[in-house]
Amino acid sequence: EEARAAYAAARPRSADLHRRATEVMPGGNTRSVLAYAPFPAAMQRGEDCRLWDIDGHAYLDLCGEYTAGLFGHSEPRIHKVLHATLEGGINLAAVGQGEERLARLLCGRFPSLERLRFTNSGTEANLMALTAARGFTGRNTIMVMQGGYHGGVLTFPLAGPSPATLPLPFLPTPYNDSAEATRLARAHAQDLAAIIVEPMLGGGGCIPATKTFLATLRALADETGAVLIFDEVMTSRMSGGGLQARLGITPDMTCLGKYIGGGMSFGAFGGRADIMAQFESKVPHAGTFNNNVLTMAAGSVAMGEIFTAEAAEALYARGEALRARLNAVGEAAGLPLGFTGLGSMMTVHFRRPLPDRPYAATAGEEGLRELFFFDMMAAGLYLARRGMVALSLPVGEADLDRFVSAVGEFAESRAELL
Ligand code: PLP
Repeated sequence: EEARAAYAAARPRSADLHRRATEVMPGGNTRSVLAYAPFPAAMQRGEDCRLWDIDGHAYLDLCGEYTAGLFGHSEPRIHKVLHATLEGGINLAAVGQGEERLARLLCGRFPSLERLRFTNSGTEANLMALTAARGFTGRNTIMVMQGGYHGGVLTFPLAGPSPATLPLPFLPTPYNDSAEATRLARAHAQDLAAIIVEPMLGGGGCIPATKTFLATLRALADETGAVLIFDEVMTSRMSGGGLQARLGITPDMTCLGKYIGGGMSFGAFGGRADIMAQFESKVPHAGTFNNNVLTMAAGSVAMGEIFTAEAAEALYARGEALRARLNAVGEAAGLPLGFTGLGSMMTVHFRRPLPDRPYAATAGEEGLRELFFFDMMAAGLYLARRGMVALSLPVGEADLDRFVSAVGEFAESRAELL
């Protein structure tokens, strides 16, 4: 309560903006992740990995725009190509060279991508991939993971139905439970169109899938004729070819999003050429902004020149090292405080041992998560309200030291609550 009151008292302008915003937008903004109590801190400006809010506080940006902000807020090569592209006119109602360039780059990088198509968001990419799988197989049922997130109308809570899922025959399946996935897939084999899975749950708490689980899903798709879809909207950063390349498991289709457009709106779905061939004529997929020139241009520079396969490996290693340091804090203090994740993505959890499956958090854990957020904000560290960190490329070693120290201080000052 005290931490929440201090957070609110330090941000009168954000509070006022939130009050006015609720008059025109339910919840006060149009991104559910930013609708948290008492109100979200409103940002004014960003530079590299720094942010400044409208109340005059400066932050180290560890949220990394929920993984879409990989390049930070002012990457000069991205700014340059965006300005140059603007000079050539905004969107031209036509194909352009940028579209072919980015598609070729991505097909060359991700093992499962023989062909791809662009969308405007990760949500749309997943919707189109599911459409493709249903069209290709002539079946309807879609195996999804409890705790999985593939976009607003593709949200699958751990318990109970989502308040707003599409009316499709979804088959909720426990994450990392190979036996149950096998039982369910076989029971529904006749109508199973697709198995869609995040190879690491992102919004669901940065819980990696075990290699065994993904290999089981791969085998089940082969056995039943269903299309295996990896939603790599968040995890594509885990190597030059995504988490699929790191694990050596190739799905039939892959969905991409977030940072790949260099920070511009982005989504893409693709995979086996025979599945994607439906879009040559049979299945329509128009989309006014699918090939918008800013995304295509920024994405080519982002993926071709900046986030190369080598850069992806280096970032992965930095993230692994950071998580080890953070987890040493909780271990040294003997406290239930630790971070799950892979590479440059991680989420705080207040339980021991660290979870290897999504779980229903207790009220106590929820309270600690909120307190952790307020304490980090007070220390000038901006991360996702749910305690997720996504490192961006401009974050330096001194920044990481600062974060580790802040977590150490949290462990010390809040030890009696943990
Ligand atoms: N899939 C995953 C795994 C995501 O994490 C997200 C967004 O957080 C999406 C899909 C939806 O992407 P977008 O927000 O671009 O619609």
